[in-house]
Amino acid sequence: MNKIEHIGIAVKDLKNSNDLFKKLFGESHYKIEEVVSEGVNTSFFKIGENKIELLEGTNPDSPISKFIEKRGEGIHHIAFDVDDIESEIKRLENEGFTVLNKTPKQGADNKLVTFLHPKSTNGVLIELCQDIKK
Ligand code: ZN
Repeated sequence: MNKIEHIGIAVKDLKNSNDLFKKLFGESHYKIEEVVSEGVNTSFFKIGENKIELLEGTNPDSPISKFIEKRGEGIHHIAFDVDDIESEIKRLENEGFTVLNKTPKQGADNKLVTFLHPKSTNGVLIELCQDIKK
């Protein structure tokens, strides 16, 4: 793994939270993107070299809506940048982690992504992401 790519925060209302985090960071989000397959609207902020992703569920069955229902708003996942997501998936499965999507899928921000089940990572949802090469 190379570095933390971003930290994902689950929010109830993306528009309100974009305003809130704009005040916090002193800068606006640089993009908004809907990921239909995940049932989420996302926005991204850049703070120096770091990125924060806000996630809002677009329907009650969305993993984000369910997360908020259970645990409230807050930090949802930590995403790590990897060079080769397929080989990382194999490596982590061999180490005994539960990989949620064995075939990586298209995520926000032009990435291939997968997640590790928090049961296998001390309660932290981990996202792996690899830049999609153009
Ligand atoms: Zn993410």
